[in-house]
Amino acid sequence: MSEQFDIVVVGGRPAGAMLAHHLGRAGIRTMVVDRACFPSYPAVSTPFLLPHGMALLDEVGLAPEDYAPGAPWLDEVVLEFGPHFDVRLPLAEYAGRRRFLVLDRQDFDDCLWSSLGQYDCVTRRDGFTVTGLLRDDAGVICGVRGRSAGADEEHIPARGVIGADGRFSRVARDVQARVVHRRDDVSTHVYYAFWEGVAPWSDGDPVAHIHSSLDGWSAVFMPMSRGRVAVLVQSQSALFEAEAGRPSEIYLRALQARPAAWRRLEAARRVSAVRGFKRLGNLFREAAGPGWALVGDAWLQKDSIDAQGIYDALISARMLGRALVPWHRGDVDWRTATAAYADEATGHMRPMFDATMERLKREVYSIPPPFVAKTILRWLLTDAEYKRRFGEVLVRRRDPDRFVTPGLMLGALSRGLLRSLLPPWGAGSSTG
Ligand SMILES: Cc1cc2nc3c(=O)[nH]c(=O)nc-3n(C[C@H](O)[C@H](O)[C@H](O)COP(=O)(O)OP(=O)(O)OC[C@H]3O[C@@H](n4cnc5c(N)ncnc54)[C@H](O)[C@@H]3O)c2cc1C
Repeated sequence: MSEQFDIVVVGGRPAGAMLAHHLGRAGIRTMVVDRACFPSYPAVSTPFLLPHGMALLDEVGLAPEDYAPGAPWLDEVVLEFGPHFDVRLPLAEYAGRRRFLVLDRQDFDDCLWSSLGQYDCVTRRDGFTVTGLLRDDAGVICGVRGRSAGADEEHIPARGVIGADGRFSRVARDVQARVVHRRDDVSTHVYYAFWEGVAPWSDGDPVAHIHSSLDGWSAVFMPMSRGRVAVLVQSQSALFEAEAGRPSEIYLRALQARPAAWRRLEAARRVSAVRGFKRLGNLFREAAGPGWALVGDAWLQKDSIDAQGIYDALISARMLGRALVPWHRGDVDWRTATAAYADEATGHMRPMFDATMERLKREVYSIPPPFVAKTILRWLLTDAEYKRRFGEVLVRRRDPDRFVTPGLMLGALSRGLLRSLLPPWGAGSSTG
């Protein structure tokens, strides 16, 4: 292939497609390749899309009715803590939206990919697997090699190569990108399947329902389009590994053993295979080097508990796209442009990454005795100020460093104690 591109993007889902949008808008000659043929599901993912992620899609002209056709709008998350209490958590408003969606990734990813057709300077090739990178005499990355099924190997030269190729990034492996930060102490296993005929959590509008059995396991019910509900099981990795059987058997047994979850599934039908991840990674790789950069999960991966993966993929793509504009104009060199991207993206992402690790410690890795669950945990999680701040953190309107402060803890616990001591404000009520 003789045509010269400024940038080759490897991977065309949230990170790669969003990056190609920003490069396309700036008139940068881009080739985006993906080994999948669209429409198709990604390897694994069943995501909530929160309002801050939607705002980034608004910017490139994509509307919810196009990328999530038929998905019900959700008003709040219900967190249920064993038999002890439950709490309804609305999100904070972001850019005029408070409600959120569960995406069917096949619809969503196909919409992102197809919408790139509007840019003359962006060329798409699906069904093309990158097998390695091209280097110049100085070792600088200058393109990719790969092939379409059954065809000969091709070389695609470019001035820069971006790995938007997910957790098991081929680009990251090829350039030997270092892992610069990692957390293995709070790893989880996550498995899910799609179900039909799932009983509602309660009368009224559908809600996202998270049932934590306070034993290191939880189940998440996510209502999506076509009347389906994605049902996800998450647990401390060691607990999952200690179970006998195949992941699909462990998944089903975990649901059957938890009456609050199983009551919703007894009359339901599973309509997909069980898919998932062992030991979801929590790490940052170095973001860039000579002729290459990483974006989305290829650069930063973390547990799905806070539902930030799509947003992080979209925003890191926007940051990289913008940083490459002065490079394309010739105002700065590659190193300067990508260093600016790395600094901005790390500064934005690291506090939320740390907050997610803390939440895993608090809600998946701590197993509180019933007395603590019924008092301290309930007082904290049902506190109005805690709920407000949590909703703001999830849409990145509040600095996660200033979320669970000693002042909030003290205030929430004293308010909770007071509610318990002074009926009718709290005593006897299990719902926050
Ligand atoms: C169980 C689970 C639940 C999740 N829940 C949520 C949630 O609720 N909310 C949320 O926001 N996020 C969630 N996430 C995270 C979210 O799915 C990811 O953060 C997001 O998909 C990352 O997008 P990406 O574009 O970086 O990578 P991916 O979506 O992984 O896309 C990478 C693409 O690269 C392509 N590729 C890979 N190698 C090659 C190659 N050699 N040649 C060509 N193409 C290649 C692949 O085919 C793929 O299409 C969840 C993840 C999991 C696993």
